[in-house]
Amino acid sequence: MKKYKDSGLSPSEKLCIDCGLCCTGYLFTYAGLDDEEIPGAYSLGLPIDTLEKPGERYFELPCPLWNGKCPVYADVRKPKVCGVYKCNFLRTLEAGETDLEQALKTINATKKMITEFKQGLPETQNRNFCLELLPYLDALERAGIHCDSEGDQYLLLAGMILAQYSRQFGVSQLFTNRRKYLSSE
Ligand code: SF4
Ligand code: SF4
Repeated sequence: MKKYKDSGLSPSEKLCIDCGLCCTGYLFTYAGLDDEEIPGAYSLGLPIDTLEKPGERYFELPCPLWNGKCPVYADVRKPKVCGVYKCNFLRTLEAGETDLEQALKTINATKKMITEFKQGLPETQNRNFCLELLPYLDALERAGIHCDSEGDQYLLLAGMILAQYSRQFGVSQLFTNRRKYLSSE
């Protein structure tokens, strides 16, 4: 971890700066906001929208503020969810069940799969990666393809990314909420 030598950053901070998958829309489609957070979020320039259920506000991911790291992390106006969210990976690191080097290796392996998958996607502008993955999840189910079977390599790659999300990051809402996402497109 030479690049972080003498940085004063904790292992958790180093992990999240190198990762950024939750801020950049690779794990989630949106981040929720409470009513009292709205003025602060507006003043930060976050594009706020409303969910179907009245009163539920959110901003879409990828977060427009992300510039390789969070520029408002120490700002009191930062959305609450940004301060409290911890993926499984981060929790595991903080519990001492893995070390930074190992965690970064797995995150980099996940990013490599994502990059490979994106190379096969049509050009789209600012589209959330989760939304790109969802149709493949349906196709995976229809084809009965599992990660350990032979089959369409591209679909297989989608399955491996989703399995990685679920196993390593503890994010499985793409599986459970996909009908909602697909119907709202
Ligand atoms: S996905 Fe986890 S490790 Fe990555 S930036 Fe978010 S909280 Fe940090
Ligand atoms: S405000 Fe910062 S922590 Fe929150 S989603 Fe945006 S870049 Fe990430």
